[in-house]
Amino acid sequence: QGDSADYDSEVASVCPFCGVGCQVSLKVKDGRVKYVEGIDGPANEGRLCVKGRFGFDYIHHPHRLTVPLIRREDAPAKGLNVDPGNWQSHFREASWEEAMDFAARGLKGRGREVAGFGSAKCTNEEAYLFQKFIRQGFGHNNVDHCTRLCHASSVAALMENVGSAAVTATFNQIENADVAIVIGANPVENHPVAATYFKQFAKRGGKLIVMDPRGVGLRRFASHMLQFRPGADVAMLNAIMHVIVEEELYDRQYVEAYTENFAAEVAHLKDFAPEKMAEVCGIPAEVLRDVARTIARAEAGMIFWGMGVSQHIHGTDNSRCLISLALMCGHVGRPGTGLHPLRGQNNVQGASDAGLIPMFLPDYQSVTDDGVRSAFSEVWQSGDFSNQKGLTVTEIMDAVHEGQIKAMYILGENPAMSDPDVEHARDALAKLDHLVVQDIFLTETANYADVILPASAFAEKSGTVTNTNRQVQMGRPAVPPPGQAREDWAITVDLARRCGLDWHYDSPADVFAEMKRTMKSFDNITWDRLALENAVTYPSLSPEDPGQPIVFGSGFPRAGGRAKFTPASVIAPAEAPDADYPMILTTGRQLEHWHTGSMTRRSRVLDAVEPEANCSLHPSTLRRLGVEPGGMLRLTTRRGSIEIMARADRAVAPDMVFLPFAYVEAAANVLTNPAVDPYGKIPEFKFSAVRVEPAGVP
Ligand code: SF4
Repeated sequence: QGDSADYDSEVASVCPFCGVGCQVSLKVKDGRVKYVEGIDGPANEGRLCVKGRFGFDYIHHPHRLTVPLIRREDAPAKGLNVDPGNWQSHFREASWEEAMDFAARGLKGRGREVAGFGSAKCTNEEAYLFQKFIRQGFGHNNVDHCTRLCHASSVAALMENVGSAAVTATFNQIENADVAIVIGANPVENHPVAATYFKQFAKRGGKLIVMDPRGVGLRRFASHMLQFRPGADVAMLNAIMHVIVEEELYDRQYVEAYTENFAAEVAHLKDFAPEKMAEVCGIPAEVLRDVARTIARAEAGMIFWGMGVSQHIHGTDNSRCLISLALMCGHVGRPGTGLHPLRGQNNVQGASDAGLIPMFLPDYQSVTDDGVRSAFSEVWQSGDFSNQKGLTVTEIMDAVHEGQIKAMYILGENPAMSDPDVEHARDALAKLDHLVVQDIFLTETANYADVILPASAFAEKSGTVTNTNRQVQMGRPAVPPPGQAREDWAITVDLARRCGLDWHYDSPADVFAEMKRTMKSFDNITWDRLALENAVTYPSLSPEDPGQPIVFGSGFPRAGGRAKFTPASVIAPAEAPDADYPMILTTGRQLEHWHTGSMTRRSRVLDAVEPEANCSLHPSTLRRLGVEPGGMLRLTTRRGSIEIMARADRAVAPDMVFLPFAYVEAAANVLTNPAVDPYGKIPEFKFSAVRVEPAGVP
C-alpha cells in the first residue's frame, strides 16, 4: 500500500469490472500498477470490492497479447485447442502492417457476409466507432454485443413502456426510499459496492424485499425474503399487483396524470389472486398480500433487478410487471423512487447508448426511421445504410451456420464461452472463413481466429464509460499497453481506413465530439468537462449541472408523455424438468470471477480465492446423490454434459443447481438452452432442465 512517495504516479480512473463504476486511483511504480484505491466517485464514495481492489494484476499477466498474430497455414483444424501460453503451432507473429492488411482483405467489400460483435468492456468511443464501422463499412446493422445476453429484455420493456432504456434513478437514491425490492439479482456478489448501500438502507430501517429463487446474500438484511419457484416471476408479481388493485392501494392521482392503459392492466390482473398464485410461485398468499401492502403504502419505493429477471424467455414480461408495479404505486420520478435494472459490465450502458445494438443507432434512435438514418449519413458524410434491423448475437451465429455470414470482426467479446449452447457458437466460429479477433488475451474465441490484434486493457487507455447510474466517467491510462499492443479505438480506425472508409480521428476526444453531434444524452457533457470533473450524469441540464439522478418527474419520453401499462401473462420456461432431466439448472457469476473469466482467472488474488470450477446444490440434494461437498458431479442437459466439483449451499433450492459460467474446463454454456425471449432476444440462461449424477457412475 504505502503512501504517495512510494509510487511514480497515481492516476484517477474507473474500475473495469462491473456496472457500478467505482472510481479508482491506480498507483504505478516501474511501469506496473502496484496498488488500487477507491476514490470519491459518485457511485462508490471511496468504496471498492475485492475485484476492484485486488483484481487489477491481470493487465501484467504473461499471457497478454503483445504482437499481432496470423493463423499458420499448417495450423491444426480450428477448435478450442490453443494453449494461450504456447500458441506457436497455431499462429505466427506478424507486423501490424501485415496483420491489418490481412484483416481488412478478409472483410472489405463483403457487405452482408460480415457481422461484428463489439464489447461492453470497451469505452463509449470504441463502441461508437465499432457500430459505425459495421454500418457505414458494410451497409447493414448486423452488429451487437453482450447486452443481448444480459439486459436486452429489460431494455425492450423500458423502451416500450417508459420510453427510455436507462435507469430512472441512481441506486444511491435508495437512501431516500422507504421500501426497496431487489429481484433476480445478487448484488452482494455481482454489484458489491451497490450492495453496501442496500445493506445500509436496511440497517437504517428501510424495508428491503428480496425476491429470488436462490436465497441470495442480501437475505440477511431483508424484511421479506421471497424465495419463489424459478420461472414464476410473472405469476408472483401479478399476484402482488392484484392485491394493490383489489385493495385500492394504488396511486390513483399518479396513474391518471402520468400513465395509460391502466384499465387493461386491472382487467388482466383479475385472474391473479394470491390464493390462486400461491402454489404456482411457492409463496404463501398472506406473504404476497403483506408484500403488496408494504410496497403500495410506502411513500417512496425503488425496484432493482438483475439477470434473474431478464434471462428468461419471459424476460420482457418480467420487466413489464416491474414497470407496472412501480407505475401503479407512483414510485417513479421522485427522490427515493425509481426503476433500476442493475447493469452488468462496466460499460454495457454506454455501449448500448452508443448504438452497439442491431436495432438502434446511438441514443436508441431506430434504424428503421428514414429521418434518423439520413441524419447519421450526414454526420458520417456517407451514403445510406440498411433500414432493416440487424441480427442479434445468437441470430448471427445461426446465420453463420446457414452460410449467410462468413466473416466476423469480434472486439473484446468471448462468444466461445458466453453464448448459450456454446458448442453451436464454437462450431459457427470454426466455420467462418475469416475471423478477426481484437483482444488482450488469447481467449477461447481467439482460438478460432484467422488474425488476432493485440489490444489494450482499461488501465492502458483513454476513454469514457457509462455506469448503471447513467454516470459518464473518464478513464485514463496509467501504464502503456505491453509490447506492440494498441488502444482499441486506434485499431478500429486503422481497420476502417483499410476497408476504404475516409475516417480521420486523432484521439478519443475527437470521437466523443462526433458522438455529441448525434446523441442528445450528451448535451452539456464535454470531454474537457469530464477531464476536469471525472463524472457527469446524463441528462445534464446545463454546463454546470452535475446531472439528474432522478428523471421523469413530470412525464415520460413517449408520445403523449405518459408511461404505459403492458399486461403480462404467465409463460412457462422453454424446457420443463422431466423424468430424464428432473432438476433446474441456473447460471450466474461469483464474487471473484468476472463473466468468462478471461481477466479474473488471470488475477493472482482472485484466482487463489476461487481457483476451481464448482457448482452449488442444497445439502439435502447432495445427500440424496451420495456425494460429499468437494466431490464430483456430472451435469447433463439436452445440449451436453460437464463434470464439476460440488458445493453445499442451503440458499439453493433442493431441485436446483447453481453453476457459474467463468470456467472453461466445465463451461456452463455447454449446458444452457438457446431459447430466447421474443422481444429482447435474450437467451434463457436462468432455466434449463438438467440431470445431476455422481461423476464416474456409468
Ligand atoms: Fe469494481 Fe464493481 Fe467492485 Fe466497484 S463494485 S470495485 S465497479 S467490481
